[in-house]
Amino acid sequence: MKQVHTIEEVRSATNAARHRGRSIGFVPTMGNLHEGHFSLVDAARAENDLVVVSIFVNPTQFGPDEDYESYPRTLEADAAECERRGVDLVFAPSSAEMYLEGFATTVHVSGVTETLCGASRPGHFDGVCTVVAKLFGIVMPNRAYFGAKDYQQSVVVRRMASDLNWQVEVRVCPTVREADGLALSSRNQYLSPEARRQAPGLYAALQAAGERIRAGDEPSQAEVTLKTEIAKRVPDGEIDYAVVRDAETLGPVQTAQGPILLALAVKLGGARLIDNIVVDA
Ligand code: AMP
Repeated sequence: MKQVHTIEEVRSATNAARHRGRSIGFVPTMGNLHEGHFSLVDAARAENDLVVVSIFVNPTQFGPDEDYESYPRTLEADAAECERRGVDLVFAPSSAEMYLEGFATTVHVSGVTETLCGASRPGHFDGVCTVVAKLFGIVMPNRAYFGAKDYQQSVVVRRMASDLNWQVEVRVCPTVREADGLALSSRNQYLSPEARRQAPGLYAALQAAGERIRAGDEPSQAEVTLKTEIAKRVPDGEIDYAVVRDAETLGPVQTAQGPILLALAVKLGGARLIDNIVVDA
């Protein structure tokens, strides 16, 4: 496995592979890798000849009061585990490498970015889209892998890739969870022991509300269930949003038909946790 830090080094490796007709699978990450990330690596490994992982804590997707400075950075351990898991190339650029002086372009997707995390984190998806656009331009993968954990992000990236006619297949892989249901996240380490004890209640609340949809409740009723269940199971949580939406448009739904998204963002003991499930009504 190779670990590189410049765009030129990535290009020389990926161009050589492409030249030899090898397919490229790409997993963009912010590092501090866990089994959620490695499930994407495994999927990429199974479907491509060359697997590239980027590790970059992208400053432009963090708000001014968010955790950019304190976000866990564990490059050495990440790279060692990537090697063990069969990654071919780790790209870990500096901010200066990614954003040259005079950088002046923003990729903005409208519509699906305006709700949920987009509403509570202004500018977040502009940062995500711009860095993903850059990384796609650098790696030029055949396939790129994203987690359903960040459901809205996967919808936004799909929209962007389709709107901009990129020849990259966007693959979305299932959320990997702890045995107690808590979705794996680098931010789980911010949780105090008591917050960690309550945190699995978020997934339990999603499941309880999902059951109500399956049993025939309307979305508005299920949304009440979701909020009630969160309050009951995660008493220290502060709900940012807890909603039942159309899984494709992310917009409100009147009747439970087709794929329905149940999604939440909850502040708990210093962390902002997000999770979601999709149920077929
Ligand atoms: P991040 O490093 O948080 O930017 O995440 C990089 C990629 O890993 C994104 O596509 C995430 O959706 C995905 N990911 C993060 N946590 C999980 C998880 N628990 N299960 C599946 N995918 C995940």
